[in-house]
Amino acid sequence: MNCVKDINTLRKTEPIFTKEAALSVILEQITDGFFVVDSQWVILFANEPAALIAKKPLREVIGKNLWSVVPQYVDSEIYDHYEHAMTSGKPTSFITYLDEFKVWLETRLFPTSQGLTSYFRDITAQKKAESKQTEMFNQLKLTTQELERSNRDLAEFAAVASHDLKEPLKSISFWLDIAGQTSSTDEVRSKCFMRAIQNAKHCVNLIDGMLEYSRVGREQLHFQSISFDKIIASVKSDLANSIAEAGVTMIYSCSPIICVDEIQFVRLFQNLISNAIKFRSPARDLKIEIEIQEVEEKIEFIVKDNGIGIPESDLSTIFQLFSRSENAKSVPGSGIGLATVKKLVELHGGTISAESRVGDGSLFNFSIPKRREGNSFSLL
Ligand code: ADP
Repeated sequence: MNCVKDINTLRKTEPIFTKEAALSVILEQITDGFFVVDSQWVILFANEPAALIAKKPLREVIGKNLWSVVPQYVDSEIYDHYEHAMTSGKPTSFITYLDEFKVWLETRLFPTSQGLTSYFRDITAQKKAESKQTEMFNQLKLTTQELERSNRDLAEFAAVASHDLKEPLKSISFWLDIAGQTSSTDEVRSKCFMRAIQNAKHCVNLIDGMLEYSRVGREQLHFQSISFDKIIASVKSDLANSIAEAGVTMIYSCSPIICVDEIQFVRLFQNLISNAIKFRSPARDLKIEIEIQEVEEKIEFIVKDNGIGIPESDLSTIFQLFSRSENAKSVPGSGIGLATVKKLVELHGGTISAESRVGDGSLFNFSIPKRREGNSFSLL
């Protein structure tokens, strides 16, 4: 509207008002950039916003070669777009980010037989809105994944509660029934009570384990760069007694700086190493080897022991809650450790698998994405 008003005003005051002058007034008034160059890149016309890009007053821009005015763009993709439009004679448009002005520009180029017309506008606000939207979308995706995971956990919990907790409860009821029979002697009764108490304790262990498992991942993870040495030192200190008792030889290939949640990563290794100790073979000294390597954008960890091993048929289910192998039943446990390890690996964005042969030992292989914060991975 303003433009029209100004032109009308001009029309009244300037009797010989040319079409070019009217156009020039309009182009001066628009906030978007506009300029015209001839086939030799000489600027024939430019408006103020266009001159701003050159950081020069308008009068110092007109009549100059475009690339002498903005030499900083000669080796950039901007130059390529202009060159292509000029030589092909085809209109084109592109979006660029001008780092020096911190703005996003959408440029349209219209080649003519005499040269080229460029029109560009600042779309920074639109870009910011788009990136906010993408950020919100990604956040929503993460929340949905988290919900799906916690739904799976709940389903697993329901299945476990109805199955695994039922067994010790059934036993308690069975032993109490026998104890209550009039024919039972005091000796039988006391044995029945002992069994019932054992089962009740097992029940308490299972419930404690379930609670601990459900707590994993509820707290916010705090990723920080830490040396692997420090992780292992914490594990060794927490398991000092059992490590000394079992006489473990533990070796690891290197000690990189990794970006992980320290508490959860210590917990992860504590579970794997205490399992290697629990399920060691009586036939040989326990040796635990840890290999760490960079595989593309991931860090791969291999934890290997020479213990009793896991039957091949159990390898696909061993990470499920309460899953225990037949050959391990003589060792007390609740089948929560490996499910927790899997959950911790997944919370770090990774995956885990196991390989084993009964009698030879077990190998747990997991990899997590390399995080970039603070140059988080370096094989020192
Ligand atoms: P728990 O140790 O309480 O039994 P876990 O979830 O930690 O529970 O382990 C599940 C099962 O996986 C164990 O009962 C055992 O059968 C098998 N297992 C885990 N780690 C090892 C290992 N290092 N060597 C042999 N078997 C293992």
